[in-house]
Amino acid sequence: MKKKVEIVGSGPAGLTAAINLARAGFKVTVYEKNQDVGNRFHGDFQGIENWSTEENVLIFLERIGLSLRDAGLICRPYSAITAFDSGLNPTVMRSGEPFFYLVMRGGGSGSLDRWLLNTALEAGAEVIFNKRVDKLEDGGIVAIGPMAADAIAKGIVFDTDMEDIAAAILDDRIAPKGYAYLLVNEGRATLATCMFKEFKREGECFEASKEAFRKAFPRLQIKGEKEFGGYGNFFFGKPAYENGRCYAGESAGLQDCLWGFGLRYAMVSGYLAAKSIIEGREYASLVKKELLPWQRTSLVNRFLFERLGNRGYAYVINVLGRRDAVGEIRRQYAGPFWKRVMYPLARWNYRSRLIDRGCHGEDCACVWCRCGKGEAC
Ligand SMILES: Cc1cc2nc3c(=O)[nH]c(=O)nc-3n(C[C@H](O)[C@H](O)[C@H](O)COP(=O)(O)OP(=O)(O)OC[C@H]3O[C@@H](n4cnc5c(N)ncnc54)[C@H](O)[C@@H]3O)c2cc1C
Repeated sequence: MKKKVEIVGSGPAGLTAAINLARAGFKVTVYEKNQDVGNRFHGDFQGIENWSTEENVLIFLERIGLSLRDAGLICRPYSAITAFDSGLNPTVMRSGEPFFYLVMRGGGSGSLDRWLLNTALEAGAEVIFNKRVDKLEDGGIVAIGPMAADAIAKGIVFDTDMEDIAAAILDDRIAPKGYAYLLVNEGRATLATCMFKEFKREGECFEASKEAFRKAFPRLQIKGEKEFGGYGNFFFGKPAYENGRCYAGESAGLQDCLWGFGLRYAMVSGYLAAKSIIEGREYASLVKKELLPWQRTSLVNRFLFERLGNRGYAYVINVLGRRDAVGEIRRQYAGPFWKRVMYPLARWNYRSRLIDRGCHGEDCACVWCRCGKGEAC
């Protein structure tokens, strides 16, 4: 008889786990509280970054069971980014390698979420929608996404005649400690501010970002705009494995701390959760070995980035503009010795907005603790 595995959440983490487990012969059930995949997103473009490891990310994803190439979803390489400093001076950063692969999020056809769902179904997983799960009695995988806002994004999706482009503005006045971005692909566009501080200014920062991109690209027309917003969560020090449950993706606090690129962490941790079940290995050790060093370096990168300010950003843009930018960013993620030494300082300085409500009791089955056994509940 097939062994059963239950997964809560049909985001990239949960569905990557489902694909790998179902292919390995497990009877997989995924529970999703919404009526469809990708409900948190709105047809907005995101990037699967290609700068945190030397290996091309699509080749890497193939090794973990996700063949995105020629798979019929939108997945486009972007090998140049036009970066603006606070004075709106442009620098085109280029590389022989793509910076990222643009994908669409949400439930629409051609989106990453739809593709992951179809792939999981083809592999034999069952996905039950409109089913919120608060307790997992027999273990399984919890992949329920962010629980607090450590970074927020506010933006629009729209139609445009502008040519395909990736652009970013580094200016603390319009994207405090983050960045504003514009992504155009075949007549569809996403424009947003991604902020790591001063969340109360989100409306004002979004309007200022829109205005800045209009100034930077006078030919940018915005047609049929639809607003969207979202948040992301990253934290350290909570157990990735508790009471027989593996926590994957953002629900485990796994996300790039520098720029909030969490897709890769979600898919890798989903794969590791599946691998730990298939091969009977310790999930927490796999996460510690495969993901934590990488995430720790990203926190040090954030610590340094937050100290740069507008002048520092302009300097960094300038340096990246003169070198192979992806190669240079890869060096920043390689985790040199001095960054490992700096990690305790960055960790001490960082306060996630997450309040840990877990009782962490031995027999607690809550996917996100609500059992009332602990003082914090
Ligand atoms: C605006 C925005 C832009 C972003 N841009 C990028 C980018 O360019 N590149 C990048 O790499 N990352 C980006 N991210 C981050 C990335 O989207 C996330 O890190 C990633 O989606 C996390 O995947 P996940 O599977 O952990 O969680 P999610 O994608 O949040 O999926 C969790 C799922 O669990 C479901 N769920 C929750 N609770 C329950 C429950 N109790 N029962 C059943 N189902 C439940 C939810 O409905 C959801 O479908 C962005 C995020 C935002 C908000």
